Amino acid sequence: MHRSNPYSETSCHATPTPDVVVLGGGLSGRLIAWRLARTGHHVALYEQGAPSGYYGAAWVAAAMLAPLAEAASAERFLVELGAASLERWAEWLPQLPQPVFFQRNGTLIVWHAADRSEWLLFEQRVRKNAPITMLHDGIVVLHGAQVTRAEPTLGTRFHDACLLANEGQLDNRQLLLALASALDELRVDTHWHTCVREDAMPTAGLIIDCRGLGAKCAWSNLRGVRGEVARVYAPGISLSRPARLLHPRYPLYVAPKQDNHYVIGATEIESEDMSPVSVRSTLELLSAAYSLHPAFGEARILELNSHCRPTLPDHCPALSWDGALTLRVNGLYRHGYMIAPEIARETIALADALLNTRVRDIDDFNTWRTDSRWPKLYHTAKPD
Ligand SMILES: Cc1cc2nc3c(=O)[nH]c(=O)nc-3n(C[C@H](O)[C@H](O)[C@H](O)COP(=O)(O)OP(=O)(O)OC[C@H]3O[C@@H](n4cnc5c(N)ncnc54)[C@H](O)[C@@H]3O)c2cc1C
Repeated sequence: MHRSNPYSETSCHATPTPDVVVLGGGLSGRLIAWRLARTGHHVALYEQGAPSGYYGAAWVAAAMLAPLAEAASAERFLVELGAASLERWAEWLPQLPQPVFFQRNGTLIVWHAADRSEWLLFEQRVRKNAPITMLHDGIVVLHGAQVTRAEPTLGTRFHDACLLANEGQLDNRQLLLALASALDELRVDTHWHTCVREDAMPTAGLIIDCRGLGAKCAWSNLRGVRGEVARVYAPGISLSRPARLLHPRYPLYVAPKQDNHYVIGATEIESEDMSPVSVRSTLELLSAAYSLHPAFGEARILELNSHCRPTLPDHCPALSWDGALTLRVNGLYRHGYMIAPEIARETIALADALLNTRVRDIDDFNTWRTDSRWPKLYHTAKPD
């Protein structure tokens, strides 16, 4: 494999070529750049938008860290990635220069009496897809007064509920800003408002492409799945953890943030339409929130927003190597926050092995993949 000298200079005053260039400063790109810079690598990051992170799916997301709740529709690989990542968030977030709201207070699953069959289906799928170790103390079925005790604000609205006790959540926008500050502190060369085209890549020892849907030209099977959310201000509700309402037509979550802010979401539409939220989706989201708690009727709508989740056919993430100088991370779909730390950790370990020529060819890569905790994550851009 040809590798350029990462420290070659065009003049004695020129900036040295970085060891690693990260393309895309959304969730995965920012996180990977931060962790790489902490290991002492010279890193540059290119992001088409601002340090706020406003352009990415990461900005719109609810940032629930809910591997068991997701087990109702996600395969075990994702559930286990999510569980491992939850531990890593707890370890990594305190290392950031600014506080990020993060809690592990569980997820509450509720349903109206008429929709009990939705719960039976949900429970069956979760028990099938989640490892037994997570189920042991992770699922607590509640009845009557137990529901009220667990989430007093819901009163006696729901006779049955289920607490997924170990789930978490964080504030995505605080995280994006804290990561931007951390990159500054570590002297990462950040190039905000800089769009990188596939045919005009910056020079580096290694490129890590984290452009999400912006990398569609490099992934023949990547698609967007549209999601719409409402952000509201609702003082007086005091929901202490994300709640998911099981419903045959309008399944919904309400994720509390700090200061009585709530994210209500999310639609899941097979479309790459990035236009504003539709009237139909707004009605569905807000009606479902109102049916969870009537005080949402007096909430103030702060924002209606939409974005598309970068999605591969199997709905799983992929870390792909082109056999030379490019790694690509994509397909985080609706699980980006839930799984990003483990994806970042694997990407950084492989990047390090490539830079130090411990992985030089496809045979080394295949050995690396076999030895990895998550072999399913690894792909090659060329057929194996
Ligand atoms: C409505 C909604 C709700 C969600 N809720 C959750 C949730 O509760 N929990 C959860 O775990 N996940 C959730 N997600 C999923 C999560 O947001 C995504 O999985 C995650 O953001 C994907 O990360 P990424 O870095 O691959 O892409 P992004 O976050 O989209 O980042 C890609 C970045 O690349 C930049 N870029 C693109 N093209 C270029 C270019 N040519 N040059 C330079 N920069 C470029 C973009 O501006 C962007 O900042 C949700 C997503 C949506 C849409």
